[in-house]
Amino acid sequence: MARRTVTPHYHGHLARNWTPAAQTGASTFRKALDGEEAVADWLAEQLREAIGKPDLELADEREVWTNLVRDDQTITTGPQGGPTITAVAMTDQSCDCPRPQIRAIPGRHSTL
Ligand SMILES: [Zn+2]
Repeated sequence: MARRTVTPHYHGHLARNWTPAAQTGASTFRKALDGEEAVADWLAEQLREAIGKPDLELADEREVWTNLVRDDQTITTGPQGGPTITAVAMTDQSCDCPRPQIRAIPGRHSTL
């Protein structure tokens, strides 16, 4: 897989209620995600959980999501009447969130 020298990472946000324009902030922040696979895995995991179908096949969705990640697009999904699942592209290199491969530091996103 070709890797860019600067790979914007993503922030996974989960809001309680569905809204097409979810507010993302410290209260909805769940996870920092690096790379298209991590983003697609997280979205699929959250969507399966929200729908209550752990074995749901999401191949088409994953294809769309990974393409969006390659374009640095923010991705919003979620079931009708369920939570809003958002993967926000973080292009600001000064972001100092807890990157998963370094270590988890709870509460570091309170200044967002
Ligand atoms: Zn971050």
